[in-house]
Amino acid sequence: MSNGSTLPPHRRLRGTLLVIAAAVVVVGLGGWLVWRSSGDGGGPPGAGQPAPSRSAEKETGGTAGSGGGSHDPAGKGGPRGSLKGKVVVIDPGHNPHNRDHGQEISRQVDIGNDRKECDTTGTSTNDGYAEASFTLDVARRARTLLQDAGAKVVFTQNGDRPYGPCVDERAAIGNKAHADAALSLHADGSGAGNRGFHVILPARVTDGPADTASIVGPSKQLGKRLAGRFRAATGSAPSNYIGRGTGLDVRSDLGGLNLSTVPKVFIECGNMRDPKDAAQLTDPRWRQKAARGITEGITDFLTH
Ligand code: ZN
Repeated sequence: MSNGSTLPPHRRLRGTLLVIAAAVVVVGLGGWLVWRSSGDGGGPPGAGQPAPSRSAEKETGGTAGSGGGSHDPAGKGGPRGSLKGKVVVIDPGHNPHNRDHGQEISRQVDIGNDRKECDTTGTSTNDGYAEASFTLDVARRARTLLQDAGAKVVFTQNGDRPYGPCVDERAAIGNKAHADAALSLHADGSGAGNRGFHVILPARVTDGPADTASIVGPSKQLGKRLAGRFRAATGSAPSNYIGRGTGLDVRSDLGGLNLSTVPKVFIECGNMRDPKDAAQLTDPRWRQKAARGITEGITDFLTH
């Protein structure tokens, strides 16, 4: 027996309206829950204020913490759905708030073959555009493109923490997420005249908590594809001061690489202290190209 069939018409109408209202509430709540569960981990999306010109680039490691969702159908990063089932961890280097937490970020952490600062403030352009703002902006642009291609994207930070995370935690986030590919985003702070991008690959390090033996090979493949696609998308040349024109470097002093158990590289998108590079890094249109190159490089690696 179905409810309402014996009620007078106006009661039936009211009952129908109640049912509709209840359905709207249920659907709305469901949508909200889905949105919450696929969000950024609750952080405000906008924390990208410029920081003062400060410390030269000292790379820190990479780990990650907040999740990605599936919205923003904007993409040019690859065929739609080609990254379905893949997990990509993006580590926006530094944190806009690190400069207010000098003591906390100077704490030493174990990176396997050494001890290093928890995190650093990063560099900035001569006009004060902070590396930490740059890395967050490009990371968010890349996230949109990667999600549109079907990937699950996890951030290590989204400007939503008071500082950090520390380099060892940045690595741990990628490991815990079982990332198929992890990328730590940076821009360099070298001398004027030093130009171009380079990708940093993990060296073989087996020491204490560090063991990169299983990721050296795949990380090199990731790095090569990333360098090629980044160059094509941005038109930028590989670094003229690191990597002898290859756009590739290998380092053993980065906690974010040493402690990673998933394929991972760093990218230094350009030199913030060079006026010509800075003009690109501060241009949102160039940053979109950079995000596209990054997305295409990761897509290449994950689909071949
Ligand atoms: Zn950096």
